[in-house]
Amino acid sequence: MGYGVYDQYDLGEFDQKGSVPTKYGTKDQYLAAIRAFHAQGMEVLADMVLNHRMGADGTETVRAVKDADYDRNVQLEETRIKAWTKFTFPGRAGKYSDFQWNWKHFSGVDYDEKTHQGAVYRLAGKSWADQVDPENGNFDYLMGADLDMSSPEVVRELDRWGRWYLDFTGVDGFRMDAVKHISFPFFAHWLTKLREDTGRPLPAVGEYWSADTAQLCEFLDRSGQVMRLFDVPLHQRFFQASEQGPAFDMSALVWDTLAERQPDMAVTFVDNHDTQPGQALQSWVKDWFKPMAYAMILLRQSGVPCVFYGDLYGIPHDGLAPTPGLETLLNARQKYAWGRQTSYFDKPDLVGWTRSGDAAVPGSGMAAVMSNGEGGAKLMCTGAGHAGETFVDILGGRPERLTLDETGSAEFPVDGGKVSLWVSEKAA
Ligand code: CA
Repeated sequence: MGYGVYDQYDLGEFDQKGSVPTKYGTKDQYLAAIRAFHAQGMEVLADMVLNHRMGADGTETVRAVKDADYDRNVQLEETRIKAWTKFTFPGRAGKYSDFQWNWKHFSGVDYDEKTHQGAVYRLAGKSWADQVDPENGNFDYLMGADLDMSSPEVVRELDRWGRWYLDFTGVDGFRMDAVKHISFPFFAHWLTKLREDTGRPLPAVGEYWSADTAQLCEFLDRSGQVMRLFDVPLHQRFFQASEQGPAFDMSALVWDTLAERQPDMAVTFVDNHDTQPGQALQSWVKDWFKPMAYAMILLRQSGVPCVFYGDLYGIPHDGLAPTPGLETLLNARQKYAWGRQTSYFDKPDLVGWTRSGDAAVPGSGMAAVMSNGEGGAKLMCTGAGHAGETFVDILGGRPERLTLDETGSAEFPVDGGKVSLWVSEKAA
């Protein structure tokens, strides 16, 4: 289940690891869920965990090198360990695939059953992949039994499984988990082959958890630009802005983010299942800033925006309410956020942007203005096509009706700590 994958062919079909269903349900329920999304005109991206396997069926005694956890290039000692690397899947008994895994398919493990010691153990004759994230010297190893992508048998099996999974489930694309821990060139091979073999576009987005935009760009280059990446630097900027309040320089909100550097490759987001309270990468954007952050990702041109379920519907378990105005912003993206974008990120506490609108979408065009200080008004231009129109705020609660001048400009006001979204009164 989840991120501790044991058998990728078991979608809740076999009596393995104590039950037939996975944590999320049975295979039939899983397939029914995908069909239900398709029936609503939605495409489904499946979460691909290819870095590691867990819960092996048996151990193997194998030579290993214990590497320093803080620098995986530093060898501490050679040893022999009993590694959980034998995957035979007795509950599935060869259905769909007779492939069985052994230590030769893995680069490393983090547990020795003989001594009950935990450490980073690199298996005999193996080296860590060289094109991975440089944290800890080399971040190939994350957890569990780490797949060796330099093994032709492993790559062949992942190719075969990928094709089986696509055909079996009918999913439309992928969210690739933990890509910083997997040899970057592997993805160019795996995704390109699946796209060629199926003739389907198979959109993909990778989770590369790093606030270093240069590192994300390097991944995109070395993996052949075969997938987009989540814009973690932008999320971190939102998080900092929400923590620092008026001290944060809003004019730098998008500087050096993926959305700025490679807008076509960025999947922008505000929060997700890992950043929410209590999770591994907790960095939850505070409530007051969320409408601003969502206005940024939904109403600006760059990036493919990704809305977190927990923000749209709330997280009752943690007492978290839905983000106010998020439904309005989602609708606004469709109705108003069209045409040329002009940015006014020129003051530390008061920023905004406009969209000129598109003749093919009547009533489109908008002006967004937001403040992390005391509020104010910003002179912005929506384009001469809006000359003389009356604009109203559909988000921030400002009561004025603004008449735009002959250039389509006005002083657009906003209250402190808010975002106002100004659109043509006719289309509001
Ligand atoms: Ca790895």
